[in-house]
Amino acid sequence: MGVHEVLKNITWLGHDGFFIKGDGKVIVIDPFQLKECEPADLILITHEHYDHCSPDDVKKVQKPSTVIVTEADSAKKLTGDIRVVAPGDKLTVSGIPIEVVPAYNTNKKFHPKRNGWLGFIVTVDGVRLYHAGDTDLIPEMDSLKADIALLPVSGTYVMTAEEAVEAAKRIKPEIAIPMHYGAIVGSAEDALRFSDALAGTCEVVVLSR
Ligand code: ZN
Ligand code: ZN
Repeated sequence: MGVHEVLKNITWLGHDGFFIKGDGKVIVIDPFQLKECEPADLILITHEHYDHCSPDDVKKVQKPSTVIVTEADSAKKLTGDIRVVAPGDKLTVSGIPIEVVPAYNTNKKFHPKRNGWLGFIVTVDGVRLYHAGDTDLIPEMDSLKADIALLPVSGTYVMTAEEAVEAAKRIKPEIAIPMHYGAIVGSAEDALRFSDALAGTCEVVVLSR
């Protein structure tokens, strides 16, 4: 499938939460303040902050066969079939290839590199989808390969919209999607600045909830 067909199967759940259907599977990333949602085959949690690792929201999309992939701090808060991973790991769960990548701050203290918190690249229907997690612009982004990149734009705890523009320029995805705004920090204005600054560089899709 092409990137635009896969894009149709991506739903923004607000903040850093995404619902993705691909390869006959349902993947949910960082569910937070969920309304109605189909149960997931695979849940990815980037790190233990309450707006990313929300046990109540995980329960809403968890079924007995659901596999959760996350880091050690989040694993302590969750129950079920949990695979604890670290940046650099590669695994396949429910037939979905997952590459675990680092996510950390370089100019603030909320997400220290030593915590080993996460971003993910999942391959669905042949398309590589990168969820950056809570991160600044980090050198590892130079070698990431992604067709669709979900990038935080709010500033404060993560990249600003301007830094996210630089991240998109380095990663060179076909489609970039802004996230991490509209719930706790960041506004639609951040997503628009991100979108405007990338005009002519890569396609930006601002999803609505
Ligand atoms: Zn965080
Ligand atoms: Zn966050």
